[in-house]
Amino acid sequence: MEIKSMKVVIIGAGAVGSSFAYALLNQGFVRDLVIIDVNHDKAEGDAIDLLHGMPFSFPMNIWAGSYEDCKDANLVVNCAGANQAPGETRLELLEKNAKIFKDIVTKVMESGFKGIFLVATNPVDVLAYATWKYSGLPSSQVIGSGTVLDSARFRYLLADKFKVDSRNVHALILGEHGDSSLPLWSHVMIAGKPLFDFDEENRPNEEELEELFIKVRDAAYEIIKRKGATYYGIGMGLARITRAIAKDENAVLPVSALLKGEYGHEEVYTGVPAVINSGGIREIVNLKLNKEETARFDNSADILKGYIEKIF
Ligand code: NAD
Repeated sequence: MEIKSMKVVIIGAGAVGSSFAYALLNQGFVRDLVIIDVNHDKAEGDAIDLLHGMPFSFPMNIWAGSYEDCKDANLVVNCAGANQAPGETRLELLEKNAKIFKDIVTKVMESGFKGIFLVATNPVDVLAYATWKYSGLPSSQVIGSGTVLDSARFRYLLADKFKVDSRNVHALILGEHGDSSLPLWSHVMIAGKPLFDFDEENRPNEEELEELFIKVRDAAYEIIKRKGATYYGIGMGLARITRAIAKDENAVLPVSALLKGEYGHEEVYTGVPAVINSGGIREIVNLKLNKEETARFDNSADILKGYIEKIF
């Protein structure tokens, strides 16, 4: 059922948390928005700044809060933690952020929280797994942002190449939100046509497609090289997932979800399409991958399992 008075708590008012808050303010489906940060001044500054945008958007309550506020929240979105330094892989952030997460998740659960966790901090797949373990919540209530951003980048670049609105491009990146992610070329649909049928006279060759995927895979590094961090795209991706929950949409979105045999794996959180509604993850959509995609998916899942083993 649609959540009429959605309460969202953002933990970590950095670049990602603030961009997400700004996206929510512009979309108007959240009633209460609480911001928590170890730097309480930063959280307060953001709350006041956002409140001043209210006359241009929708009525909403926004305040800098504490973990007590999680008690009756529908959704807690964790964007806290150290950021990816230039050249640092997301997985190298693991040990730093796993410690921060244990502390945060414990405090959220001590409040009596019964809602849904959404994780954005990197390495997001491993930290979604950690959140599931530390919280004791059912896996349906713990979601990682996964490949929602990677898939958006993929759709945008395909749309730009084929000159079609990106909303008419269906395309997915699966696996780790990171270096071992994979493009699902076999399922790309442009304006309802399979990739190679869209423009039969100008079919893309393998090199062009590989180049496009590399742009998707390395997008974060390219942005970080230029401005130190990425945050607008993920802010909107988090807002999209939040809307699917608030409006009980049953939207199919690529998120990081716990596999329980889907895609031939278990005990790992990784990017897969999932049906999202007010209960969280209703189910994972188990697509049929070709041989190469299966091998790449297996490799990505095994890398993530290796990292999970390092902290559990
Ligand atoms: P940032 O450094 O700007 O912000 C992090 C915030 O977390 C800071 O305000 C800091 O004070 C706060 N914080 C740190 N420890 C805390 C704690 N224990 N409790 C509460 N708050 C705490 O970083 P950012 O650019 O906002 O990035 C945040 C995370 O999001 C990073 O891990 C980054 O890699 C990740 N990220 C994920 C995606 C994605 O697609 N999932 C995309 C971009 C960035």
